[in-house]
Amino acid sequence: MADDGASIQSDLTSLLTDVQRFLMQEKDLFGNILYPDSSTVNPNITGKSVKPEGIVPAAESRYPDEPWTAAQSLETLNRQICDCMKCPLGATRTNFVFGVGNPKAKVVVVGEAPGADEDAKGEPFVGRAGQLLNKILEAINFKREEVFICNILKCRPPNNRDPLPEEVDQCEPYLWKQLELLDPLMILAVGRIAGQTLLKTTRGLGELRNTVHSYHGIPMMVTYHPAALLRNPNWKRPTWEDVQQFRKLYDERVQQTGEAHG
Ligand code: URA
Repeated sequence: MADDGASIQSDLTSLLTDVQRFLMQEKDLFGNILYPDSSTVNPNITGKSVKPEGIVPAAESRYPDEPWTAAQSLETLNRQICDCMKCPLGATRTNFVFGVGNPKAKVVVVGEAPGADEDAKGEPFVGRAGQLLNKILEAINFKREEVFICNILKCRPPNNRDPLPEEVDQCEPYLWKQLELLDPLMILAVGRIAGQTLLKTTRGLGELRNTVHSYHGIPMMVTYHPAALLRNPNWKRPTWEDVQQFRKLYDERVQQTGEAHG
């Protein structure tokens, strides 16, 4: 009888683990389907988003009195913001993770937030997910050093939990300023959180991917987060399709504008 009890408990634990994994994958794919969408992204029949347009919000509109908003280089910006204590993550981080790459990059990759490896090293995407990201970039002929890689949040949330709205609210202006200085031709958002945050939508990844959006006028695509691919290799094929489309569009933009990585 006691053995039966232990066996039922073990079955239940294993069932719960499966349900938890399933729900995480569903959330990655479809977003929070319990809450209706309040998206500003409005894909038309050509698959292009028509909003939001215009220029990336000016950092000084959010922090009018802060000197970093006038920074003229990424290096200066990093120096001016790396001691940030605007949200509680400042007190728990090991390192502020500004971003890494070519200051003249024409492609910016945006992830969610630093994990443990990134917090320890002060550099985004250096763990297993980062190695996979490097391979994804290489597959479309971009070297890691050629692009610029950063996150929505610059400091690690404890236990890798999702960023809180108030943390995003405080930190996102740093990304606006990075994008103002970089002035990229294209943005690649990896993962649901990066896509939803940049596009101010609750649409799930399944809807956001495979579409060219506009981030205040900058063409942007969203694809699976490399960490999600490590959990579910079935998503490698759609990711491959997304990044192929991304590369094609990038090449077209380079042709049109005559700009390329410096
Ligand atoms: N995941 C992210 O979104 N960013 C990192 O820098 C590392 C893992």
